Amino acid sequence: MKLFTIFGNPVSHSRSPLMHNSVFKHLGYPACYTRTYLEDGSTLRETFFNLKLSGANITIPHKEVAFKACDEIRGFANKVGVVNTIVEENGKLIGYNTDADGFLYAILEFENIKSVLILGAGGTAKALAIKFLEENMQVSVLNRSAKRLQFFKTVGCKTFTWSDFQLSSYDLVVNTTSAGLNDTKLPAPKELVASVLGATRYTADVIYGKLTPFLALAKEKNLPCKDGSDMLLGQGILANELFVRGKFKKQQIKASMQKSFLL
Ligand code: NDP
Repeated sequence: MKLFTIFGNPVSHSRSPLMHNSVFKHLGYPACYTRTYLEDGSTLRETFFNLKLSGANITIPHKEVAFKACDEIRGFANKVGVVNTIVEENGKLIGYNTDADGFLYAILEFENIKSVLILGAGGTAKALAIKFLEENMQVSVLNRSAKRLQFFKTVGCKTFTWSDFQLSSYDLVVNTTSAGLNDTKLPAPKELVASVLGATRYTADVIYGKLTPFLALAKEKNLPCKDGSDMLLGQGILANELFVRGKFKKQQIKASMQKSFLL
């Protein structure tokens, strides 16, 4: 029996155990997926080996620490320095990032996205920004503090804090902050959020399973919006494919994983 987990703080909200266990159960794969509250990200590697894990997902706030904890990084994670999936291979930790492709899967129904405003500058924002730039979109990033903006500036995004923000027009505004996850906060002061919502065609939030104050305001303005559920499904399918080492097709994984959304 292989063991998988999700590391995070907080982690009790995570639907990943339901999703991955649904795949293991329906496809008859001998594995179990749990959740692990991890306060100190620097203990991630040690904890991974102590628990004898075969793989893990990583959520807030440990995705950047997880990158450093790996022996080898493969694919898109190399470009962003952020890891949300780890697989154990011959005693080594191999890191991947499936968040950005998961998000692109989620917004397939949004048409003609050329310019995006990202709210937040954490691990998820990094992955999305690089993916959007690869897709030739114009990317602006608005964060409450300046310290994390340098990365985005270097890769070619316009960057702002709340105090120096310059409004433009956008096809999509996406909230990647954790504001609204366990509180009732907006990702920026209300007037600022209202102004960006007045300047976009579509909105999305990466938080799932609840109507965040950000999406509630977008709905009030009759904007098309998406919560993070489809992104969760998209990144989960890609992570599970890595966990089962290609034993099942994406379509099989998707069908089994979707069953967990009915629970
Ligand atoms: P990080 O901890 O790396 O970054 C958090 C960001 O949010 C920072 O930019 C921080 O700003 C900002 N922030 C936090 N609190 C507030 C607040 N009250 N007001 C304004 N800004 C705030 O987190 P991640 O990028 O790893 O995750 C962010 C969110 O994305 C989480 O809610 C997570 O659950 C969700 N997520 C969902 C996924 C899905 O599949 N649907 C996948 C991945 C993530 P500062 O720099 O100033 O501290």
